[in-house]
Amino acid sequence: MKDYQTYLLDLDGVVYRGEQVLPGAREFVAWLDATGRAYRYISNNSMASPAEVAAKLRRLGIPAPDARVVTASQAAIEYSVAHFAGQPIWVVGLPPLRQMAARAGLRVLNLARGDAPDDPAAPATVARAVLVGLHRTVTYADLREAAHAVLAGATLIGVNRDAQLPVEDGLVDPGCGAILAAIEVASRTQGQIIGKPAPAILLAALDALHADPATAVMVGDAIELDIAAGHAAGIDTILLLSGLTSPARAATADPAPTVVLRDLAEVLAQARAAAQ
Ligand SMILES: [Mg+2]
Repeated sequence: MKDYQTYLLDLDGVVYRGEQVLPGAREFVAWLDATGRAYRYISNNSMASPAEVAAKLRRLGIPAPDARVVTASQAAIEYSVAHFAGQPIWVVGLPPLRQMAARAGLRVLNLARGDAPDDPAAPATVARAVLVGLHRTVTYADLREAAHAVLAGATLIGVNRDAQLPVEDGLVDPGCGAILAAIEVASRTQGQIIGKPAPAILLAALDALHADPATAVMVGDAIELDIAAGHAAGIDTILLLSGLTSPARAATADPAPTVVLRDLAEVLAQARAAAQ
């Protein structure tokens, strides 16, 4: 393994699974801190703020300043600010996402309610962009207003394309991608995706770190999300077997990761050897 200077770490299946810290995670993060390596935790979460994700890491005994977490919702908001600051935007998502967007400087037309503009003089169709996150109380009116805005020329931005959302009882709920798909079908428009497997979230993290892509690596357990995103971002990838992927699947992964390792304990051993 190469002596990487920048690590982008997926969380579920890499650092923890549910409430359980995975082997080597605490030790690897301590080594990153001790050796001055740059790193970010990369979450596809379309609801949680970086502060909420960081609080979970700290609860599990892993040091995590809020600024070390990049969530897809935050990256999508930053992307929207970069392209649509000061312009009207329609947000399909729960109040915390709409409030995050407003706090970041976006002019959110439906800040208080989901299904009508707060300013009656500004219908959804004046929006320059529609930002779609997970919305657990989405209504037909939400989909209709969003579709109307896109048909009137607004740019459609999706936090991620996750079809499903794992829930505690082993079932899966519809994910952000399911809501986005409804709006894409209704508006006959493909959304621009920020979260994994799109490279945007990784490129934003690398940019914020002023990282050299040649010595950066994405570490994840999902071929279709983490490895695909790293591949699209043009950086090396480490596929771990501590989460979703079996050794048999890893052997035929497409895109192929740069290296396949068991867990962060093995990453630490390899990283130490590479740094010698
Ligand atoms: Mg994962």
